[in-house]
Amino acid sequence: MTAPLPLLIGGEWRQGGGTPFDSVNPADGSCAARLATADADDVDAAVAAARAAQDDPSWARMRPHARARLLHAMSDRIDGAREELARAQMADNGKTIRECRSQAAAAASVFRYYAALIETAEGEVTPQRGDAVTMTLYEPMGVVAAITPWNSPLTLEAQKLAPALAAGNAVVLKPSEVTPQVGRIFGRLALEAGLPPGLVNVVTGAGETGRALVAHPGVDLVSFTGGTVAGRHIAEAAARRLCPVLLELGGKSPNMICADADFEAAVQGAAAGIFGSVGQSCIAGSRILVEAPIHDRFVEALVAAAAEWRPGMPEDGDVRIGPLASFRHRDTVAAAVDRARAEGALVRCGGAAPDDPRLAGGAFYLPTVLTGLGNGSQTAQREIFGPVCVVLPFADEADLVAQANDTEFGLAAGIWSSDARKCWRIARAVRAGTVWINGYRDGSISTPFGGMKQSGIGREKGRLGLRAYSQPKGVFWRLDD
Ligand code: NAD
Repeated sequence: MTAPLPLLIGGEWRQGGGTPFDSVNPADGSCAARLATADADDVDAAVAAARAAQDDPSWARMRPHARARLLHAMSDRIDGAREELARAQMADNGKTIRECRSQAAAAASVFRYYAALIETAEGEVTPQRGDAVTMTLYEPMGVVAAITPWNSPLTLEAQKLAPALAAGNAVVLKPSEVTPQVGRIFGRLALEAGLPPGLVNVVTGAGETGRALVAHPGVDLVSFTGGTVAGRHIAEAAARRLCPVLLELGGKSPNMICADADFEAAVQGAAAGIFGSVGQSCIAGSRILVEAPIHDRFVEALVAAAAEWRPGMPEDGDVRIGPLASFRHRDTVAAAVDRARAEGALVRCGGAAPDDPRLAGGAFYLPTVLTGLGNGSQTAQREIFGPVCVVLPFADEADLVAQANDTEFGLAAGIWSSDARKCWRIARAVRAGTVWINGYRDGSISTPFGGMKQSGIGREKGRLGLRAYSQPKGVFWRLDD
């Protein structure tokens, strides 16, 4: 048997102390890669390497334009390795090659964006009484633990690495055990780009490795993207040593369709909002609220649109969605639909694996539309993280806003209406970190992203994303005699 793919610690590749594990390709059940598992000693070594690299004057005193040059070099390396990165993600989580390629290209641009921000940054100086000034300096946090989920490592890992490095930190990245390959490639590219060894360390492994990292006293910030349950555990563990956390968690986002909306656009937007990425998107529009007079017609049209999202093998360039990311997750999604049936849901389409024999060896599941439930049902309240939506009728604007906000989550929301004032009122009333008006799932690196309520703490992306990895320091300087 070949040796497991090693960990990256202090610029060196080495085996881990834990039991190796396999990443399984969910499209056909084959082994995508065998990986080393980092135990507590490996995590300790990675944090120590990160600390040494972060403290080293060659990095700590590097001028912003020189740091930006390294980030540009990293971005060029990612561009050069786009196909390798895309294929690694596809093999690990079954995302279509089309989506993987576009995420690899976007990952390169995330590094360019943060390079540009630090090159063009301006300072804050405030006059004080007499001959004194106050300066606000933004200093690195130190060692950042970046813990990521399996749905989009290309995007989510780039979104943590780039701003953390731009702000002058060192990073220990713990990718999901389902998608361990992309992070290792990012680690290798960082070395190739000339980033000092130890600035990017990659420790593969499951929750145990993540727990060792969160508990490590040498970690100065935990930046976590994943489920709300793990997020809460991490916040509790970090609180014990007062370590700050940045949490990007789950959602159950409302996509709201008013009777005066462009009907066809809303149908297509609602379908793409939940079936895109097989619904394995934290911002998936999984609660579709439809104004009562158009509810039945909308459900019919949504079921017809769902047929355009038939899953297929991810390397097929024409396919819009692949399998779910793992067999275990496919079973979880199927169990959630069974529970919905038990709650009285009508399964309007899907609710099963596809019958195409070519897909029989993979973790595939059909786009599923559920009706007949209330917003208080478990199905409407719990994140399913699959291609499963529940369509709920609403009576008027007040009822719409009440239902949209009647959830523990607050990640995203969509509004479809031709009445601009109504769109504005709803956008202001809904408690969500991102709101789309007559669209859904658009994103841009320059717009802050994060959740309200149980969907998270803090914001990534944009200028705020750089601040998230910095700590301000006020300097009072008396210049009188
Ligand atoms: P998960 O919470 O199970 O795991 C995420 C990561 O945390 C993995 O690397 C895992 O090994 C690690 N982990 C698990 N328990 C841990 C612990 N106690 N301490 C330290 N590390 C631990 O999430 P997942 O199943 O990989 O991803 C799906 C979830 O991620 C969904 O809930 C989804 O909504 C969420 N998500 C959120 C965003 C966002 O930006 N808000 C983006 C993508 C995904």
